[in-house]
Amino acid sequence: MHIPFCRSKCHYCAFCSLADAEELYEPYISALCKEIIITGRQFQNASVDTVYFGGGTPSILPIPLLNQLIQTVKDSFKLGSTAEITLEANPGTVHMGELRNMQSQGFNRLSLGVQSFFVGRT
Ligand code: SF4
Repeated sequence: MHIPFCRSKCHYCAFCSLADAEELYEPYISALCKEIIITGRQFQNASVDTVYFGGGTPSILPIPLLNQLIQTVKDSFKLGSTAEITLEANPGTVHMGELRNMQSQGFNRLSLGVQSFFVGRT
């Protein structure tokens, strides 16, 4: 599931992604949850083994919105007991406390994107 929000827009990026669009987080997640529910009704008996949140930078979302997303997926689809649930993250947008919360909600895999190996002098 694409989450089209990022801290800034990378110059090489061709994905739909917006920076400084906090006012769109809630309406987008609300619409996405509706789509998840509708799609879940179409695949009621299917078992899901993989759920992937990304690209964009899903970890930029506030924890309550991430929890809303994962709960909607759990309510709408039959997740296998070993289902892999991934959150794509930018290293600068996650902290240990938030990661623990995400894990407790069901995320069990983190995909870290590296935009650059350049380390500027400070
Ligand atoms: S973080 Fe990823 S999705 Fe966001 S602008 Fe950069 S390359 Fe694009």
